Amino acid sequence: MTDAYGDSTRCVHAGLPPAEPGQPFLPGPVFASTFPLDPATGPVPGVDSYGRPDSATRRRLESAIGELEGGECLAFASGMAAVSAALLALVGTSDEIVLPRDGYYKTRAWAAQALSSRGITVTLAPTAGPYPDFAGVRLVLLETPANPGLDVCDIAAIAEAAHAVGTLVAVDNTTATPLGQTPLALGADLVVASGTKALAGHSDLLLGYVASRDAEIVSALRSWRDSTGAIPGNFDAWLAHRSLATLDLRLARQSENAAAVASMLATHPAVRSVRWPGLTGDPSYVVASKQMRRVPGVVTFELASADEVARFLTASKLVVAATSFGGPHTTADRRAQWGDDAPEGLVRLSCGIEDSADLIVDITVALAHLKTDGNT
Ligand SMILES: *Cc1c(COP(=O)(O)O)cnc(C)c1O
Repeated sequence: MTDAYGDSTRCVHAGLPPAEPGQPFLPGPVFASTFPLDPATGPVPGVDSYGRPDSATRRRLESAIGELEGGECLAFASGMAAVSAALLALVGTSDEIVLPRDGYYKTRAWAAQALSSRGITVTLAPTAGPYPDFAGVRLVLLETPANPGLDVCDIAAIAEAAHAVGTLVAVDNTTATPLGQTPLALGADLVVASGTKALAGHSDLLLGYVASRDAEIVSALRSWRDSTGAIPGNFDAWLAHRSLATLDLRLARQSENAAAVASMLATHPAVRSVRWPGLTGDPSYVVASKQMRRVPGVVTFELASADEVARFLTASKLVVAATSFGGPHTTADRRAQWGDDAPEGLVRLSCGIEDSADLIVDITVALAHLKTDGNT
């Protein structure tokens, strides 16, 4: 599908075979761990023989995501499978890497434990900067917008500085999705992402992927995945592909809801601070407006305490306490309960696809409970 088409057109057609009478638009999942071999020739390159490296269902999903990211895609069992594969396959012992200080907490926690013990030096940098000198650094992982704080960094500028000294640039594109920004076009060497969140978008499966235009990176990751087996199951791959058709529609509503909710929270007396990169005046607004084609449906805000968050969630009829984000239902997650290094009252709100007016009324009424329950 050519880039000349709009986002919805590209999403609807991504990775589909040419339409054929009597055939489904998206062929159903191929359930096979093993395929018959030619008794005389045995395995033949290009003909599927075993499910770990071979899956027509997974290849179709990969070509769909690859079209949207603008590179070659490899699907993984989860976002963490993709992140860990990229770091283990591309970084050698005694290398130095830079990871986001304020990004997805598991990446940081896993690296501190698994990479540091392999002799890899892990330096943390805040997404908004300043970044360390990249000389001697093998790879820098950016996460923009960062989860959960939603700071945004300038991918093209950082890629230029990194490439000047031979440092690889990886971007975690989970929160933005490829419709929000295409890091490969901005100069990143690879994208790593969780498809579990807005990409698949129905809170029903786990998925990860890596995308790159660099044949060596793709080959290293493919061989890593084929050997370690971090593949998604075929039903999940098919379900994710099926869900891609509505990505543009879902993101448009989530973003519209986030805009309405963020503006309301910004002036609410019970709310200490709000972050949403689409809000004029947000510290990330300028760089996000330049770099992102749309701002995701995630809004991060802070209430006074864990107790206030619990009372807010109990009072709300539409906001469900749940982790993860990007699904059809509006959910809220108090990040500190997971061991994320966040204030006790910090809430990551994932706007769903409900009607904006309903959400605004519900959240306003729920926040009003914080006052009437005798809190000062
Ligand atoms: C959720 C998340 C991951 C991990 O993805 P899983 O699919 O849960 O393994 C990685 N990066 C970011 C930014 C995430 O939000």
